[in-house]
Amino acid sequence: MRIFHLSAECYPVAKVGGLADVVGALPKYQNLLGMQAAVVMPYYNRKFVQENEFETVFQSSTLLGIRRLYFEILKEKTDKLGFELYLVKIPGLIDRENIYSYPDETEQFIAFQIAFLDWISYSQQKPDLIHCHDHHSGLVPFLLYHSKLYTRLADTPTIFTIHNGQYHGAFGWDKLSYLPEIDLTKTGLLDWAGGINPLACAVKCCWRYTTVSPTYLEELTINSNGLEYLFYLEKAKGVGIINGIDTDIWDPKTDLMIAEKFSIKMQAKGKQANKEALCSRFNLSPDVPLVSFIGRLVIEKGADLLATAMEQSFNEHPGKFNFLVLGAGDKEMESELLQLKDFYPDQCTAFIGYDEALAHQVYAGSDFLLMPSRVEPCGLNQLYSLRYGTLPMVRSTGGLKDTVIDFGDEGGYGIRYNNASVEDICIAVSRALVLYDNTKHLQALRKLMMSLDFSWDRSAKEYINLYESLNLTI
Ligand code: ADP
Repeated sequence: MRIFHLSAECYPVAKVGGLADVVGALPKYQNLLGMQAAVVMPYYNRKFVQENEFETVFQSSTLLGIRRLYFEILKEKTDKLGFELYLVKIPGLIDRENIYSYPDETEQFIAFQIAFLDWISYSQQKPDLIHCHDHHSGLVPFLLYHSKLYTRLADTPTIFTIHNGQYHGAFGWDKLSYLPEIDLTKTGLLDWAGGINPLACAVKCCWRYTTVSPTYLEELTINSNGLEYLFYLEKAKGVGIINGIDTDIWDPKTDLMIAEKFSIKMQAKGKQANKEALCSRFNLSPDVPLVSFIGRLVIEKGADLLATAMEQSFNEHPGKFNFLVLGAGDKEMESELLQLKDFYPDQCTAFIGYDEALAHQVYAGSDFLLMPSRVEPCGLNQLYSLRYGTLPMVRSTGGLKDTVIDFGDEGGYGIRYNNASVEDICIAVSRALVLYDNTKHLQALRKLMMSLDFSWDRSAKEYINLYESLNLTI
């Protein structure tokens, strides 16, 4: 079965968050199960592209409104990622370094989608299914079914996966002319709240949509930045499938980025060695518990609560634990965390920026990973932390609720709390410190966490079951 995954991100080509991890892994695991899955993404002028060889497989031009755009489809020559990787390159629009935040982002992603459709249409390809990820490819289902240019492909099934329902990619009707010739009686499908909304449009037009956890499927009907009613209406088309983790990359037994590799059997020694290396880099004592946070510094992640909650916890438990944050995002949150570090230099460190290797070291060297998220569609950090024997301290929401059981409950291994609030974080820290003092219990929990299976084998099969339910021949 030939599948195209369309995405703005894919690890290791270009990553901002979990979307990249998923799109960099799911197709590989689908191929191991006998599919022919490929990834198509925009071209970014970054390390992976510079260091690998690509060949041009298609060249053409297309129209974005009245602007003629020349584009190329490049293919990575060796399929080294475990799937065919195609990049859409449009000089001057899709050939830059950053993934997001250009003022012409709308034009960038519309052009990406049109170029993809032109390519498969004019090169006479007929995929068995197109799997779109997030709003950046959300117009593809609509264009396939309602643009005269692509009628040859109009019976192609589409799946749309929502990795983050807060971002819609919405833009004004003044940009309707950017879309290729469409059936104007169908413009209502593009609309939400008076604008063109690619996320809403995808949910309406795709054959089935998925969210990256079952709880998030429910939550979208209550909190999705204005699309709640749409998700309520379309719920029967939705399926929640928890993400997996790529154990080729995230495995303490083989991870080349960490100070000392370790297995379940060696968890006590391995954790200590990694903690010592990490603490020595940041001048923290390795003799007290290390609580860490990794992620985008945004309200969704509860990052605005960190500085106050940690200050309160430092005062409640002076000298009893250290805190490390690795993240970037909101400037105010960044400076609050840097100030916290200045106030508590012996207990706190803040690495403001993005560093993939350091993330691996933090998962390996920390005792606890804090995730006070307000919204967490799936969350991969807690899955990585479980794999590395680091106890997750999570707010009960979205995928965190579906993957972490409180250690006070039967079969539990994490710490859960109900509110994204300073008070709940402080209580969670206090519980963590009590648990840390009970070495036997903590080590038993570590062994349990490390033995859990959140690999892609299971999730990739669930996606295939979904494809099969569309009555496709595989
Ligand atoms: P989201 O996609 O909402 O940001 P996820 O939990 O799904 O959150 O995925 C986050 C991914 O990004 C994880 O792989 C995490 O390790 C990584 N990550 C986030 N921030 C950083 C950072 N500052 N440095 C390195 N890795 C980061």
